[in-house]
Amino acid sequence: MVTQEDVIELAKRRGFFFGANGAYGGVAGFYTYGPNGAAVKDNLESAWRDRFTVRQGNMEIEAPTIMPEAVFEASGHLDGFDDMLVECPECGESHRADHLIEDNTGIEEAESLPVSEVEMIIRDHDLRCPTCDAPLGGEPVEDFNLMFETSIGPGSGQPGYMRPETAQGIFVEFPRLKEYARNRLPFGVTQIGPAYRNEISPRKGIIRVREFTQAELETFIDPEEDEPPLHEVADVEVTLYPADEQEDEEGSAYATTVGEAVEEGVIGSEWVGYYLGVAQEWYERVGVDMDRFRFRQHLPGELAHYAADCWDAESEVGGDWIEITGFAYRGDYDLQKHAAHSGEDFDVFVAYDDPVTVERATVDPDMSVLGPAFGGAAGDVADALRDLVERDPDAFRNAKAAGEPVTVTVDGEDYDVALETANFGVEEVTESGESVTPHVVEPSFGVGRIVYTVLAHAMDRDEVDGEERTVLRLPPGVAPTTVGVFPLMDKDGLAEHARTVAADLRAAGLAVTYDDSGAIGRRYRRQDEVGTPYCVTVDYDTLEDDTVTVRDRDSTEQRRVAVDDLVATLARLRAGDLAFEDV
Ligand code: AMP
Repeated sequence: MVTQEDVIELAKRRGFFFGANGAYGGVAGFYTYGPNGAAVKDNLESAWRDRFTVRQGNMEIEAPTIMPEAVFEASGHLDGFDDMLVECPECGESHRADHLIEDNTGIEEAESLPVSEVEMIIRDHDLRCPTCDAPLGGEPVEDFNLMFETSIGPGSGQPGYMRPETAQGIFVEFPRLKEYARNRLPFGVTQIGPAYRNEISPRKGIIRVREFTQAELETFIDPEEDEPPLHEVADVEVTLYPADEQEDEEGSAYATTVGEAVEEGVIGSEWVGYYLGVAQEWYERVGVDMDRFRFRQHLPGELAHYAADCWDAESEVGGDWIEITGFAYRGDYDLQKHAAHSGEDFDVFVAYDDPVTVERATVDPDMSVLGPAFGGAAGDVADALRDLVERDPDAFRNAKAAGEPVTVTVDGEDYDVALETANFGVEEVTESGESVTPHVVEPSFGVGRIVYTVLAHAMDRDEVDGEERTVLRLPPGVAPTTVGVFPLMDKDGLAEHARTVAADLRAAGLAVTYDDSGAIGRRYRRQDEVGTPYCVTVDYDTLEDDTVTVRDRDSTEQRRVAVDDLVATLARLRAGDLAFEDV
């Protein structure tokens, strides 16, 4: 059994990831990816880009990571991007109140509970400080904003924030992005880059950190017209853990297909269902163990107020389920907020198939009557009439039917205006389309958590030639190195030959590690431990017949391959176009 400690130990020893700034004692929540980890992360990002940007026909952008305060006033992060904090009165350590509850009581998803209830649970369960064991009952629980604040420019500058999600960088640029998409919905914009959250208690290696990489896709749709190509993923099998199963004591996750779950309304949005299907296949390809994976629906209290349906992709590592991706139907919340705060146009003009003729109510207030009647208020009364006819033309129709004046309110005072004075009329106009505020469907991937999951799920121990080995069974396209190249001995010209082989493989774009130290068995073990799928050994036969040994990590089987065929064979193995047993 592989534990989280095993994964973290291997990660540190073999350069996948480790706590950053160690020379200065380190700061919790910041990690450095070592050479192997940076390579895995890069491979996962490429695989993501390939699936979610290129194959989907989306556009990728790169926005700044520091944004001005106005952005987060509009997005709601300044007011509401909080976690619940409780401070120990004895040792002063800060803890996330909802996590304390989840870790020490049977209560799940405590994040969705109100502060007052969280305080009550801490008191009733006599929860204690994990650091010094002092009781926390009676201590106030406070909302703590997770954004890192900074100041832009010299002097007092203007306040800025490190973005807590990459998404805002896409939303704020929408007025331009829609032009690049030639105002045609639906279209998608992706971004891969860092996000920052001043987590109260970072923990568990790279799972909860203060700087992490997100890969986000914002799909902009016309909610009335656009449908996803659901048929492409309708048969994809998924494990779902819907809200009602979570709330039922006997409830559990179950297997179904995307098509069925959408049809039965378990997944509320076709778009969200579509992305769950696409993501499921992607996760499987990059090495997530599908027996340790599920989609969990947000509980009603967990849902952001604007979100209609949200699901998290969760993976099981070391006995815990962690959220690795969030899928949300965000409605028009984001674009409406930025439109209102910035005054810019975040709508898209959607043309009708055929122009339509509609009746439009109009007014043309007669100022020569309003002026003498209402004095200084006349202008405002005229504006109120124009506003009312747009908002509620029936107010005029009803007044006409009843033979009464229409009433508008200015500064809390009612004004009656005769319809003749308002010059109420109805005209026919031809409209070629309408302005629509697109709705947003968002899959938001945490790259670090996927790196961690893929490593944890790949890590295995078995026995080879009576000796235990640690092996990372990473998919070849994800592994940091594709090929280890070894000379059997460092003499008789074998090393020169092996170096030439390594150089040729590198020139063909493969990631190669050259290793000539120690017994060949030890060299295989070193590569197994970092997930290198294939090792090539140059031996004395090579000098005779120009063939080398290719050894497969998982089966440990070996084949002889002509040096001339090596690049093509390894490239096909890496791409999954060739199985090792067919070499
Ligand atoms: P959220 O916006 O909270 O739904 O986050 C989107 C994704 O970002 C999550 O599914 C995680 O994979 C990742 N994520 C969020 N917070 C952190 C964190 N503190 N450390 C690492 N990854 C995170």
